[in-house]
Amino acid sequence: MDHFHLKDGALWCEDVPLERIAAEVGTPVYVYSTATLERHAQVFRAGLAPVGRVHFAFAVKANPNLAVLRVLAKAGYGADIVSGGELARALAAGMAPADIVFSGVGKTVAELEAALSAGIGQFNIELEEEGRVLAALAAARGQVAQAVLRVNPDVDARTHAKISTGKAENKFGVGVDQAPAIFQRLAGLPGLNLRGVAIHIGSQLQTLDPLEAAYVRIGALVGELRAAGHTITHVDLGGGLGVPYRAGDIFPSPAELGAMMARVTRDWDVTIMVEPGRVIAGNAGVLLTRVIWVKPGVLYPHVIVDAAMNDLARPALYDAWHDFAAVRPSGVHETVNIVGPVCESGDTFATGRLTDQVAGGDLAVFRTAGAYGATMASTYNSRGLVPEVLVSGARYAVVADRIAPSTILAAERVPEWL
Ligand SMILES: *Cc1c(COP(=O)(O)O)cnc(C)c1O
Repeated sequence: MDHFHLKDGALWCEDVPLERIAAEVGTPVYVYSTATLERHAQVFRAGLAPVGRVHFAFAVKANPNLAVLRVLAKAGYGADIVSGGELARALAAGMAPADIVFSGVGKTVAELEAALSAGIGQFNIELEEEGRVLAALAAARGQVAQAVLRVNPDVDARTHAKISTGKAENKFGVGVDQAPAIFQRLAGLPGLNLRGVAIHIGSQLQTLDPLEAAYVRIGALVGELRAAGHTITHVDLGGGLGVPYRAGDIFPSPAELGAMMARVTRDWDVTIMVEPGRVIAGNAGVLLTRVIWVKPGVLYPHVIVDAAMNDLARPALYDAWHDFAAVRPSGVHETVNIVGPVCESGDTFATGRLTDQVAGGDLAVFRTAGAYGATMASTYNSRGLVPEVLVSGARYAVVADRIAPSTILAAERVPEWL
């Protein structure tokens, strides 16, 4: 459920008409609903209630906007971060350092130092050498880093290859068969309290089966580590729950995930940590765009909108589907291609899509753009960076400015020898 709805024949976000935002902020623009973010945070937490002790860390990479992070901090969420930049954002948003978890396969020494300085709650170690370096850095500072070892459970998440992370050949974590020996070697190091294990097998998962298989595998590993004499108090089960990008698609609910998680982890006696991203933010945002032209095409007309692959990369990157809808639908439908102005055929949002008929000048939205949307934007074709708006009831605020091409140009120089 989200808070984008038709009122008086036009699409609103909560109590603000999207037409007003387009007129006052311009297009393209991302629009997020506070009520939807809050609702998703609450529904996800409630769904996992049967699991017992759970720590909720929002995967910042899904939507790192400062105001969005503040909404989730207020909803009691910590942060799962994957870079020093995300660390700075989580702290700036008011997340408690103790509630921050640092994942990522390529943390630099500078990033590890910054996270130790901040006193974050947990490091998710992705390889043995990282564990050794972290231990040495922490020991030198007189600190003990709380950490878990990320394990690659070798499970096929059955999602898009580019967002699958838990197959043996993927770069993430240590092989489940090597995990006990690596755990053994790292566990004794001064500066490190290796207190558990972590997994994250991929994103936009459509069924619970791969997650259950991974949880079962990690549960067996916990038993093995305990039998070897290790104290295991934390298991991080990552994120990955998918969301319906097409109206009518059915996905597992947080309650179904929670029931399965409670069943599988019943005897583990640990704090469970989770890192949801997409399921919290995906349906809480739309990309609002204006149609520039409708151009006749050989198979279908091309609806050329002012948003492009640089603003919303998912269709070009993952062949992803985003529902498209007119802000003021006439009730007439038409089969069209929906494309942006960028000079690549990859700048295509939809091909042969039956959708609301639109004409030049009309406003439209790409739905389910609240996760992995603005954060993946680039300035390709010397386009500006798309702004972000947060709505709350009848109020809205621009929570990220449009960065004009001239601002980007101002950061470049021609050397004096030219
Ligand atoms: C991306 C990521 C997540 C979030 O994944 P979603 O599919 O958005 O829930 C969680 N944990 C880690 C380690 C990640 O890399």
